[in-house]
Parts: sequence; C-alpha cells; structure tokens
Amino acid sequence: MNAEIIAVGSELLLGQIVNTNARFLSQQLADLGINVFYHTVVGDNPQRLKAAIEMAEGRSDFLIFTGGLGPTKDDLTKETIAAHVKKQLVMDEQALEQITLYFERSNRTMTENNKKQAIILEDSHVLPNEHGMAPGMLLNIEKHMYMLLPGPPKEMEPMFLKYGYPLLRSKLNEDETIVSRVLRFFGIGEALLETEIEDLIDSQTNPTIAPLASDGEVTLRLTAKHKQRDTALRLLDETERVILSRVGEYFYGYDDTTLMHEAMKIIKEKGLTISCAESLTGGMFQQTFTAIPGAGAYLKGGVVCYTNEAKAKVLHVREETINEQGAVSAQCASELAENVSSLMNSDIGISFTGVAGPDELEGHPVGTVFISIFIKGQHVQTQKLHLGGTREAIRIRTVKYGCYFLIN
Ligand code: ATP
Ligand code: MG
Repeated sequence: MNAEIIAVGSELLLGQIVNTNARFLSQQLADLGINVFYHTVVGDNPQRLKAAIEMAEGRSDFLIFTGGLGPTKDDLTKETIAAHVKKQLVMDEQALEQITLYFERSNRTMTENNKKQAIILEDSHVLPNEHGMAPGMLLNIEKHMYMLLPGPPKEMEPMFLKYGYPLLRSKLNEDETIVSRVLRFFGIGEALLETEIEDLIDSQTNPTIAPLASDGEVTLRLTAKHKQRDTALRLLDETERVILSRVGEYFYGYDDTTLMHEAMKIIKEKGLTISCAESLTGGMFQQTFTAIPGAGAYLKGGVVCYTNEAKAKVLHVREETINEQGAVSAQCASELAENVSSLMNSDIGISFTGVAGPDELEGHPVGTVFISIFIKGQHVQTQKLHLGGTREAIRIRTVKYGCYFLIN
C-alpha cells in the first residue's frame, strides 16, 4: 500500500508552523510497513484541496489528511472530501456524545457550531477524539482509503496511536506481525555508518533498515514482517548481528534510550557516585543527568566553573596550569576532574572545558573540548575533541561525549 500525507492549513504554507504531523505519521506508517511516497501541503482552499486530492488519487492508494476538521469557516477538509467522493455528511450520535462529554469535563458551554463537529462522512469508521472535539474518520471507497485526522498534534497523535494504528494494522494483513527495533549509535557520522552497511540497506527488504541522524547521533530502525512473531524477531536478531559485527563499537543502546540513561545504568551497576566540573557546558551535564528519575542516588553535585577564577578558587586548579597551559588544556581538565571528585567525595569526577564559540579562546579554535574522567583515585582518560556546529550543538555534543566516555 502506498500512502500520501496531505496536510491542510494555510499556516503551514506561510511558515508559521512546522509540518510535524507529516513527520509523525511517516514514522508511524514506516513502522506499519506502509510506503509513504508523497507529502503534500495545501492551504485552506477548497479548489486547491480538491486538486490535491485528485493528484493524490492518481498516484497513491491511501490518502491521510490532517487539519481543517474544526468548526470554523476555514475548516473545509470534511466538506471538500465529501463533495469529491460523493458522500453525505451525517450527524454521528457517538461523536456528539463525546463532544458533549468533552464540554462537560472542561466546564464550558457548547454552541451549535461545536455540534457540527460531530458531523461525519457517511459510511466512515469514526476515530474518537479523546483530547479535543473533532473526531477522525476512515473511509474506504473502491481502490482508495481516506483517513481524516485533526490538525493539533496533541489531538492527532494520541488518536492515531490508539485508534488509527491498530485499525490499519488489522486492515493490512490479519495474520502478519510487524516488529521493529531501533539501534542507536554515537561517535560515528551518518555518512560513514551508511557506507559501512550500504549493501545491507540497499539489498535488504525484510527487515528493512532505515537510518536517521540527529544531534550527533545516528539510529537505524529495523522493521521485519512475518506470520510468526518469533520468526520476525529472529530476522531482526540476524540483521542486528551483521550490523553490529561491522559498526558495533559505536552502538550504545536500543529504542528510546539515551546516552545519559546508559551512562547512569553503568554507574548504578558498578555502585558508584559521580560529581562534575563544568566549564563550557555550564551545568548541562548535571541538568541532563538530573532529568532522569533516581539521579540523586548517584550524582553528588558539581561546580559550574566558568571562569579561570572559579577553576582556581573553587576547584584549586594550579596557577601554573592556567598560566602555562591554559584553561582549555588536558592538564586543566584532569585537575578539574580529580579535584571535583575529592571536593564532592564521589567515586567518579568528570570535567568539561573547551571553546563553545563563537570566538576562539587561548588560540584554540571553536569546538576544541577536553573531557577528563577520574575514578577512585585514578585518571581513567582525558580526551581532546574537535567538534563542529553551533555553540549549542557543541555543548550538547560535549555532554553526549561525556556520557559516551563513561559508558566505554
Ligand atoms: P481545530 O479544531 O483546532 O481548528 P483542525 O483540525 O481544524 O483543528 P487546523 O485548524 O487545520 O486543524 O489546525 C489547528 C492547529 O493545529 C494549527 O494552528 C496548528 O497549531 C496545528 N496543526 C495543524 N496542522 C499541523 C501540522 N501539519 N503539523 C503540526 N501542527 C499542525
Ligand atoms: Mg481549525
């Protein structure tokens, strides 16, 4: 089945909002094994929407619309589709009940206009809206399937996950199981990782392998189908094994985990505590660490030692180090890591010092970063990095590298 996502809304064309619905739905459909070949964006205009529908029908089996299901004059998706596929619009009692309930829950008065939102395309299957008013719909007409979803992501996403996804899965193939798994990599660029496994990406159809890069990380989503769930899982295992035999050194975890979660897992397994000296990251490492529930059992504390004065006075970096080697140096990083661990009385001390930009510092180019790790009285490693990107990207990646060095 080939799908096309049609996002309706003039705000999208004006650049006032980003089409996150297309991204969300594309990911979900990929998970279901449905190919998405086109994304279309069209304004709140019935003629142009009709033209977009006709174009989509000529090249796709499954048309998914988002937006324009609301009660206002510019919400025209339902009406335009109804006229196009020659279906009546009818009041749906269940949808009306849901809308009434929604108003009762939020203690607001319902207007006639709101009632209109319970009007659906006749013969369509209703997808209840538990976070708003306009229900979604699924309609089958001959060769085509039409799904109508509301525009607001906080309504559309839960509706799709709870009602749309299972319905599509059951329609696709009653007895085929689809399983997927995400492999997460760090420390290798997308281009290099793809080159290493290019032959697999190109030739494999079951499982399929879909790479995605963001914030210095690369993920591979493997999706396998089979009648038997066990066999589908075995197919995933086999492909994973081949991939990891080539790029396993950069692999750090599965699915929704993060580098920080993995770092914390290791600290926990080893029964250690940690503290942190942060210069260019300004507390970002600790912010990310403490965002994970239970952080208090492992993180003793830390120092944001942004200036040389703070490095010297609070963390006792030696004067010669600052004067002779500079604050951006391996020696400074290692003194920071050692001294923060003794100040906080923690097993691990980790430090970050470097140049986030926009200007160079002490003759070092933007992106020069030193990370040092001190564990139980011993220097374990001090690494020098050359990171690219904006100030923010450099800081985020510095924190990620810190986690990565803790894991490895
Ligand atoms: P409502 O009942 O809120 O009017 P609707 O189904 O009519 O919902 P729209 O009026 O088209 O949807 O859009 C409402 C809001 O939903 C937009 O202002 C925007 O914030 C969000 N939205 C719409 N389409 C998208 C999209 N493709 N991606 C992300 N957000 C979107
Ligand atoms: Mg609207």
